[in-house]
Amino acid sequence: MSKRTASKVFGKVCKKHTELSGKRYAKTNECVGCCAESQARYYQKNKAKAAEKNSKWWAAHPEAQAEKCRLWVVRNKAARAEYMSAYRSSNKALYAKHTANRRSYLLRATPGWANEFFIEEAYMLSAQRSVATGKKWEVDHIVPLKSLLVCGLHCESNLRVVEMVVNRRKGNKHVVDTNMHFQLAEFPT
Ligand SMILES: [Zn+2]
Repeated sequence: MSKRTASKVFGKVCKKHTELSGKRYAKTNECVGCCAESQARYYQKNKAKAAEKNSKWWAAHPEAQAEKCRLWVVRNKAARAEYMSAYRSSNKALYAKHTANRRSYLLRATPGWANEFFIEEAYMLSAQRSVATGKKWEVDHIVPLKSLLVCGLHCESNLRVVEMVVNRRKGNKHVVDTNMHFQLAEFPT
């Protein structure tokens, strides 16, 4: 509903809205207060319908939704970074625990025959790629360390260096997708 702006003072003051001293819309002679009330009633009555229509539209336009999300991230980047850093500093113990857990998990998932040199090389490569491309790369476990079906090992043959966005999309799903392989050179076995 478009917003009507033109209002005039007419002779007759609306009984319900005496505080408005007879402000009415020039075109319809409708009391400004009464009009606002009827609009509010209309909104309340059609709220659910409008919301449904709205969510249907977004569901049918996934690309628009993705764009909206992307714009949100761009607009809120600074605020988000600030929030995350504040959260991290106020939850230091939690993060330390998480890091320790992760480290001990990695240790337990490392077989005796794993080659430390090649594992380290993968981490170095991810750092170098990040610098070279300006995008974040990370070391991924091809078969995830933790998943419902299988548990992978922390060893060179289960590592690959992938772009972070690609990796995060994968999550803990065990996806064997050759397009996602950015594996290091063949490892000697
Ligand atoms: Zn009124």
